[in-house]
Amino acid sequence: MGKYNECAWREHRELEMEYFSTRGAGPVSLDEALRKGIADDGGLFLPQQFPTFAVTDFAAAESISEVAAVLLGPFFAGSSLQGDVEKILDETFSFSIPTTTLPADGNSVSLLELYHGPTAAFKDIGAGFLAACLSRLEGNVDAPLTVLVATSGDTGGAVAAAFDGRPGMRVAVLFPDGRVSERQEHQLCCWSDNVLSLKVRGAFDDCQAMVKAAMADQALSVKHRFSSANSINIGRLLPQSTYYADASLRHYRRTGNKPGFIIPTGNLGNASACIMAREMGLPIGPVILATNANRAIADYFESLEWLPRASLQTLASAMDVGDPSNMERLRKLIGDADVLRDQLGVATVSDDEIRAAIRQDFEEFGFATCPHTATATHTWRQLDDNLVEQHDWILVATAHPAKFETIVEPLIGESVPLPAELQEILSRPAQAVSIDPNLASLAAALDDVG
Ligand SMILES: *Cc1c(COP(=O)(O)O)cnc(C)c1O
Repeated sequence: MGKYNECAWREHRELEMEYFSTRGAGPVSLDEALRKGIADDGGLFLPQQFPTFAVTDFAAAESISEVAAVLLGPFFAGSSLQGDVEKILDETFSFSIPTTTLPADGNSVSLLELYHGPTAAFKDIGAGFLAACLSRLEGNVDAPLTVLVATSGDTGGAVAAAFDGRPGMRVAVLFPDGRVSERQEHQLCCWSDNVLSLKVRGAFDDCQAMVKAAMADQALSVKHRFSSANSINIGRLLPQSTYYADASLRHYRRTGNKPGFIIPTGNLGNASACIMAREMGLPIGPVILATNANRAIADYFESLEWLPRASLQTLASAMDVGDPSNMERLRKLIGDADVLRDQLGVATVSDDEIRAAIRQDFEEFGFATCPHTATATHTWRQLDDNLVEQHDWILVATAHPAKFETIVEPLIGESVPLPAELQEILSRPAQAVSIDPNLASLAAALDDVG
């Protein structure tokens, strides 16, 4: 894997896997990296090296948790969780993650459905894994660990669902007031006493800044034992690599082709997981990031200058990120824009194009897509003919359309049936505490519930 991964994993299999910050701090163990979420120097954790695999290494792996055991085993080397890996993976992959072929005039295109978990979005997978790990590492009834999570929509619900009622664990979910859908808000606010739902009078970037500030505050960190569950936590990315491994292996075995992936992208967590899988040798072809009107990544690839900015509100709200945190990780892993843009495509999709794609998906495929997933279907339709013909494509479906019914239903002229998981969640009572977008308000809210 080029400059980052200098030594072959196989020679080091018996060693502990160590994790370093993108800014240099470390090494720490997996346990520590999962616990901290973000490194002491403000950087993001990466393993000191990635193992590399051949397709044949997965020959005996049938289910997705078996694929995960092969792929993720090395990352647990030396961790106190090593004996629990199988249980952790079974808990994480307790629902199906199917790839469905789409009708497309002789071209090979399919949909990777990541939305069959408890809150009907792909973030259930990373959150489930992290909860399974942290509750084993840290579950402490006398001094609970507080997981802080800033969410532009789906993350918070997934994290809350994953930690709901787990003893010795507490979750504080920060979300921007008025910028998440009604159903999404309900999913952020309907949990047990160990989940604190905080409605912040600000934008997602404010929520994220508050989490960073809280974690950087020594006194608060000691008092509340903070951890983060945002996609900056390496514990989110590792399990997400698994479904790219599983889907690409299945496709490759069936067709002999390495599929390309088109990935709806906001904070770059899901896409980074795909790149990691490709770096580890999985049979993955081109990777294209589909973003909404937030252009930070597209402009970076064009100008070679990284210029994070305030986020714009779009229909694909869970991707409204002006300063994608995982870019720091991707640059460390692969290189700066001049290198990155040779290995990754990027497309920006406007709200009008999202609307048109939702309509067209319904007509052509016979089912509705969510506004995030629609950025991928739109991007696929815009690909050059030779890209469509030369590669098989897997479009990543990140959420169930019923989560965004106020956008989707008027466009398709029909109601979208609620999946059973969402029905159950929406029937619960919900409540939240409103706070101002600063650290003092967050600290006060955390103290209120002791
Ligand atoms: C979070 C989210 C995204 C963006 O994923 P990143 O990992 O932040 O790039 C896309 N779609 C949905 C539905 C999401 O919840």
